[in-house]
Amino acid sequence: MEFCFTAEELAKRAFSGPPLTREEILYLLRAGEEEAEILFKAADLVRAQVFGPVVHLRAIIEFSNFCRNNCLYCGLRRENRRLPRYRMSAREVVQAAEEAASQGFKTVVLQSGEDPCWTPERLAEVVKEVKKLGVAVTLSVGELAYEDYALLKEAGADRYLLRHETADPELFARLKPDTSLTKRRRCLEWLKELGYETGAGCMVGLPGQSLESLAEDVLFMRELQAEMAGIGPFIPHPDTPLGKASPGSPFLTLKVLALTRLCLPYANLPATTATGVAQKGGREAALLCGANVVMPDVTPHRYRLLYQLYPGKAQADPHPNAFAYWQERLQALGRTVGQDLGFSPRPRGASAAAGPDLLA
Ligand code: SAH
Ligand code: SF4
Repeated sequence: MEFCFTAEELAKRAFSGPPLTREEILYLLRAGEEEAEILFKAADLVRAQVFGPVVHLRAIIEFSNFCRNNCLYCGLRRENRRLPRYRMSAREVVQAAEEAASQGFKTVVLQSGEDPCWTPERLAEVVKEVKKLGVAVTLSVGELAYEDYALLKEAGADRYLLRHETADPELFARLKPDTSLTKRRRCLEWLKELGYETGAGCMVGLPGQSLESLAEDVLFMRELQAEMAGIGPFIPHPDTPLGKASPGSPFLTLKVLALTRLCLPYANLPATTATGVAQKGGREAALLCGANVVMPDVTPHRYRLLYQLYPGKAQADPHPNAFAYWQERLQALGRTVGQDLGFSPRPRGASAAAGPDLLA
């Protein structure tokens, strides 16, 4: 395929179309350094058009590492018996949220394994308490029944992160044996229907994942019109069946991120922790390739060490005041920290063509 483009042309297409085709996405996933630079610049232009220099900081509290699932890639999988398990109390979660809010965070993300002891009813009580702090609440606790998502929305939760992990149904079934891509997609559709800002996302470099399937990931997120998307490299965890697999490429991860920005100009896209763990300065690199969000870990230290989705995660945000620390790090990039709750700015019902016209 012949495909000539400038960064400005690519960026313009993000707003006024025509949307990138599957073939174009695949072509850009295969891009070498030189063409990738153009892709990255285009994603950065789109990010700048929509968000300017503003980066939203979201404090993530990992409140339980118990999980009933057995995802092959994840250190929290139920068959990893080497991992000591913990479960924070409701009071501890609220206290951690209070500390985050007092640092200046405007969003608190509550994440855990799929822990049956943390019932939706208990979680709903915590959401109500945290909402009293005037922050936005994002949940990321896996697959639940429609009624449970509804209960948590009613309690005040604003957003929900549920990565689709991979849009390749066979790979999904192999790596996530407790569920299916169809079920995952249904959960994402429920979340949208219930009015959550909904986050999908994928890992890059999973064993057996093809570039074609990464193109499908980008298309999956565009089709869903995800308001958020978490994209990070796969990092092998030694106590899992994939412990000896190769890690995902940081370069390819940035290409997937940049393509997602071109397909979802208004979405909140984090520079994920895994991107920073896989490569020094990875989160800054992601912020230059379309990302506009950082999610520092504010889990109390003794627990954080045990929330081992992948190695290196617990050491990623060592500073006791993560907000002040990131404020400084962002300043060095010429970015500022968002002062509002940081919802996706896309006006409801507006067409993709209604983007900013500065690129015209
Ligand atoms: N249990 C919930 C939320 C916690 S897992 C869920 O599964 O949705 C959060 C994310 O961590 C997952 O969506 C997955 O994409 C990521 N993750 C897990 N293991 C990983 C690994 N080895 N490398 C990189 N990311 C990983
Ligand atoms: Fe559990 Fe989530 Fe890890 Fe899967 S990815 S084992 S659901 S914590």
